[in-house]
Parts: sequence; C-alpha cells; structure tokens
Amino acid sequence: MERKVTWETYDAAQLEKLEKLNQEYREFLDNGKTERECIDTIVNTIEAEGYQELESLVQEGRKLQKGDKVYSVCMNKSIAMFQIGEKPMTGGMNILGAHIDSPRIDVKQNPLYEEGGFAYLDTHYYGGVKKYQWVALPLALHGVVVKKDGTTIEMSIGENDDDPVFFISDLLVHLAGEQMEKKASKVIEGEALDLIIGSKPIVLSGEEKEKDGNKEKAKEAIKAGILDILKASYDMEEEDFLSAELEIVPAGKTREVGFDRSMILGYGQDDRVCAFTSMRAMLDVGKIEKTLCCILVDKEEIGSVGATGMQSRFFENAVAELMNLTGEYSELNLRRCLARSCMLSSDVSAGFDPAYASCFEKKNSAFVGQGMVFNKFTGSRGKGGSNDANAEYIAYLRRILDEKGIVYQTAELGKVDVGGGGTIAYILAEYGMNVIDSGVPVLNMHAPWEATSKADVYETYRGYIVFAEGAGM
Ligand SMILES: [Zn+2]
Repeated sequence: MERKVTWETYDAAQLEKLEKLNQEYREFLDNGKTERECIDTIVNTIEAEGYQELESLVQEGRKLQKGDKVYSVCMNKSIAMFQIGEKPMTGGMNILGAHIDSPRIDVKQNPLYEEGGFAYLDTHYYGGVKKYQWVALPLALHGVVVKKDGTTIEMSIGENDDDPVFFISDLLVHLAGEQMEKKASKVIEGEALDLIIGSKPIVLSGEEKEKDGNKEKAKEAIKAGILDILKASYDMEEEDFLSAELEIVPAGKTREVGFDRSMILGYGQDDRVCAFTSMRAMLDVGKIEKTLCCILVDKEEIGSVGATGMQSRFFENAVAELMNLTGEYSELNLRRCLARSCMLSSDVSAGFDPAYASCFEKKNSAFVGQGMVFNKFTGSRGKGGSNDANAEYIAYLRRILDEKGIVYQTAELGKVDVGGGGTIAYILAEYGMNVIDSGVPVLNMHAPWEATSKADVYETYRGYIVFAEGAGM
C-alpha cells in the first residue's frame, strides 16, 4: 500500500503554520509537566477564547444554545470542553479524547530521610517506566502541597536556569560488574529510585545545640537543613508531605532535534501531544453541525482509574448537565447522545525504530513523518483488552480525511506476541459509540525524553479539525 511522507505534501505557507503550531506545542509541554499544570494552561488558553465554566452556568441556570463554548474541570486533573453544534445533542457528538498524565516518579507520603551524607525523598514510580532510564540525569520537582488549613502551595523547582535540580544516583561503572549482569528490569529496583535533595548539614552553635528540640536536629542535620529551607521557602512542615502531590520529572525544556530541526524531543509527549492537538483543533474548528467535545483525562497510565480517570462518571455527568442546559436532558436522550457519538481516542503510537526493527512488523507500523496514525485495535496477545474499531467507522474516517488530503497511516502496536498496550478507547466504547485509537507516532515512548515529528504533530491537528467538522455516522 502507498505511504506518503507528510513533509512532501506541504507548501511554504503550510510549513510556516507547521512551525508556528509546533512552537506553541513546545510551550504547552514546557508549561505543563503535571496534570494540574496542563489543566491550568488549558483553562487559561480556552477562557481567552470564550469558554465558560459549566458549573457557574449551572448555578445561574443559564440556557445554552448553538455556538456556546463551555468547559468543566474535575479536581484540577481532568477537563471536558464542549462547543454546542447546530444539531440537537441527542443525535450524538464528535469527541476528541486524550490523556494528560505521563509516566514519572511520585514522592511518597512519608518521604524525607537522611542517609550516608545525603537527604533523600523516597519515591514510587507512576506508570510503565524502564527504571534504569531515570537515574543520573537532572530532575525537577513539580506539584502541590495542601496544608491542613486548606492553603495550597504550588511547587516547581528545576526548570529555570538558576534553579537547583535533583537527581537519582547510579552505581559507578567501576563497581558495576554484578549490576551489569542483571536483567534490565532489576538493574535499578523501584526502591532505589530515591531522589537526592541535599547534602549540607544545618550548623548549630554549642549553645543552640542545648536548646529544646535541637538535639533531634543535630542527629539528622542534613534533613534538618532541608526542613529549615522548606519552612522558610514554602512555610511547610514535614507532616505536610502527607497531603502533597509531588511529581519528579526530567528537568529542562523541550528541544528541536536534528540539523533539519524536524523533530521535537521533550518530556510527557505521551499523551500531551494528542491533548494539545485536540485542544488546538477544538479552538480552531470552523462551522460544526454536531456538538464538539474534547475530553482530556488523568490516570490513563495506571488504568484510567479514580475520580479523574476515564472510568469516572465525570464525563457522563458533564454531558448530562450540558443537555440539561440545552433543554434536551432526559435519561434516554443522554444515552442516545452517547451511543450516537463518534470518538477519536487519541494516544501516541509506537513509531517504527530502525534500531529495534525486529520488534515491529513493517507493513503495519507507524512511521515517524508519515502522518496521523490509526490503530484499529491495540491490546496484547490476541488483541486482549482492546477496543476494536468498526470497519464502517474506519471507512467513514477514510472518506472525510481523503477528501481533505490528510496524510494518515494505520498501525499495530508492534509485532503480534511481542507486547502491547491499552488506551481509554474501550471505556467510551462501552456507551455503544464508534471509537478508534488515533494519534501521533512517538520514539522512546515512556522514556524521560520522547521524540515526535513536527510534521506528524501538524498533520494530526489538521486531521482532528476535519473530524470535528464531520457529519458523523
Ligand atoms: Zn503511555
């Protein structure tokens, strides 16, 4: 089957748009290294474009009509955006969905300790990571500490040029004979992923040492020094870690890759590349017949669980509230709306990597630079756990995308029996709607630094706009 190279299809004007979109994408990645930061960035962006918060409209009892733009946020970690279309919602929506959580290392609830001249934060990694990739590189600390009185302290340390960074140590090669013989999954154990956060002891004068409470400090003087800094900088006590969500991520900004600057290397592109392009497409869409929805959720990397994951009723509730404000709500109409919707469940796809060609089946692989990817199914070992998109739905997508000259490709996630993975697709499919996995090919998926092609980012964005403006099934 014919494969197109996306780059070859652009004229100068399109290349300019491509660069502009990718510049905005890079800023999106740099500003949003956690779910909460992504939500802040998204809300700021969409409010500037006329989106209003659903909850306040509900309180006012305001009626909604076509063209209105609303959003609803769940616990600062998930968001649903809607633009009301020409046709009644009962006829279904066009839904763009993606996730905004990314693999990382989380700080434990009782994390702070001192050992062998260092102060550490104990951690528990989040999502599927190759643990050995996360050692010996500069790391940043992002998140929130919520104090008992309800005040929230926001933390972001390690991103500015003059910020300190943190790191996880690795054994020197000179002593690593035994370590190097281990399986890659055991080379770095989960409990060895503790973050080095300091090494300077608090210095107490002889007099101070005698004071109440200071004997404890003198015993673990490095830890005490860190606690002093946390108190002075953030007004937090050690106990405040109990109600904190702190995420350890690679420090630094996204970069362009190659002499030709054709790619982007950055943290969290799984799946913020699809979240960004979905959001941007939603904002740039032309005339729409069906109500358009963009849902960006948390917790995909650990099974879409919890109040902010796709399995939560949050999305369904938001649609019900929305239909209530358009005057269409009934239990039956809600079910009809969901069942008649079409969705692009957008997540990154495994880009073909020539260095590991044996893990891919070339005819059915996604190639970097060859456009938007569709995965009819994902899953592993006999499609286990997969959503399997209907052939009729794929035919519809082929028709509308070909009409507008969108470059796309179809793929499986690697060779049969080699591995696999899942997305949020199967959860929305439970409503009986048409859902297919789509997205952007990525190299180094789940590594601290993931790579994408600028052309794929741009082409996927274009594809989402065509989908959003489509008549649906
Ligand atoms: Zn992932």
